[in-house]
Amino acid sequence: MSTIPRGARISSVQSLLLHAGSDPNPSTARLAPFASPYATDPVLQDFLHRTADLLCAWIGSAEQHSPLPLMRPQPSIAPNAEPADLDTLLHDLQVVMDGAFQPSHPGSLAHLDPPPLTASIAAELVCAGLNNNLLADELSPGLSSLEQELCRWFCQRLGLPKGAGGVMASGGTLSNLMALVTARASGQGLGDGVVLCSRDSHVSLVKAARVMGLANDALVFLPTDDDGQLCLAAVEQKLDQLRRLQRPCLAVVATAGTTVLGAIDPLPQLADLCRQHNVWLHVDAAIGGVFALSAAHASLMRGLDQADSITLNPQKLLGITKASSLLLLRDGHQLSTTFGTGLPYMQQPTSEHHGGEVGLQGTRPAEVLKLWLGLRQLGEVGIETVLSNALERRKAFAGQLDANRLTVLPGELHIQAFRSKHSDSARCNAWSDHLRQQLLTAGYMLSRPLHQDRFCLKGVFGNPHTTPEHLSELAQLINRSVR
Ligand SMILES: *Cc1c(COP(=O)(O)O)cnc(C)c1O
Repeated sequence: MSTIPRGARISSVQSLLLHAGSDPNPSTARLAPFASPYATDPVLQDFLHRTADLLCAWIGSAEQHSPLPLMRPQPSIAPNAEPADLDTLLHDLQVVMDGAFQPSHPGSLAHLDPPPLTASIAAELVCAGLNNNLLADELSPGLSSLEQELCRWFCQRLGLPKGAGGVMASGGTLSNLMALVTARASGQGLGDGVVLCSRDSHVSLVKAARVMGLANDALVFLPTDDDGQLCLAAVEQKLDQLRRLQRPCLAVVATAGTTVLGAIDPLPQLADLCRQHNVWLHVDAAIGGVFALSAAHASLMRGLDQADSITLNPQKLLGITKASSLLLLRDGHQLSTTFGTGLPYMQQPTSEHHGGEVGLQGTRPAEVLKLWLGLRQLGEVGIETVLSNALERRKAFAGQLDANRLTVLPGELHIQAFRSKHSDSARCNAWSDHLRQQLLTAGYMLSRPLHQDRFCLKGVFGNPHTTPEHLSELAQLINRSVR
């Protein structure tokens, strides 16, 4: 600053001299570690263009490779003594891309990790360039309120009442943890409380219980019925028992879309039960919650609007780039009551509270940007299409499985788990292990989750590049394995 008078106009050539060494030619100039604040930096532009070219080529050639890399090249780990030049950096990036999982491959069907939405990719780049901090208003003016307003839009679309609000989190694990911490803070005497959930609920609840220092027996896994849904009678019985023992119930956690089956717990009935017993209802709708946005499929999420808190992960099906999770609260104020500390090193917020006081995280990137822009890109029609097509693909796939020789597991979403009918569990497990490998060789990546006492295979049909022909080929390969 000292050598440049304030407000002086500086040519881009001068700026390059100041910030990027002595070579004004973008193709050979060194990339300045910090872009010039005086003029558009042509070397940075060139670097970002070429980075984008590599990325587009990586996505655009996905189908020619495999969902998983056959070989993983090893990048150089430590920084060299001297700064790396532009070509070295591009090479470094290419090495990492060559060894990465490829969600855009049409056969990538293993997990809840769809290809990235194109608008989300751009928003992520801008997010990095802005480098704002959702911790405090003064570090993210505009983006903080964008987050709050988008959370409120979700609340409204999910049917939560006025006064509802939320916060974004780096993943559903954090959202679930914050939900349970808020539930505990909302009531007195919940210190030795119990959390009731289904045996098919997500492992993040185990982490939450540990982090919260709950008693070893505090997380109670209740049975599911033939459809994989939490048994109401078991919940009712347990609540009655806890009341008799005078042990508080911290929360009932319903899952709207279990990780293996995609089963949806009976939300309206659980909401009634929780109301009767004055117990917090958290719905882990990390997977299923997005269906509430769809006019055609919102009925799947009936009762979600009765929840006290909701976890919803737009990263899992809509293609919003990771991480993208929302925690929504029926009473939005409970977040600041639970997590507010005051931020003595910050200016007073212009809105009610700082972003760093409504959740567990402090410094946070503006993850809202890729969610907001992704939803804007899709529009209502696009959202509907993504969701409907995923359900259709699952149906088309499931319909072609040989039900005489395979146990096709239940579930209501875009997930399909199945296993062989071998009565012997060792043989069943060996079959799934072998078939998973074989399918991978053919370009189809399924997952192999443990469900109850045995491993099954699972396909997740959120990949928009999977065609009916792919689904037929996949089903044939599977059917052939049990013939
Ligand atoms: C994925 C998942 C989570 C955890 O979300 P992360 O973003 O992986 O932390 C929680 N609950 C359910 C049902 C999930 O499928």
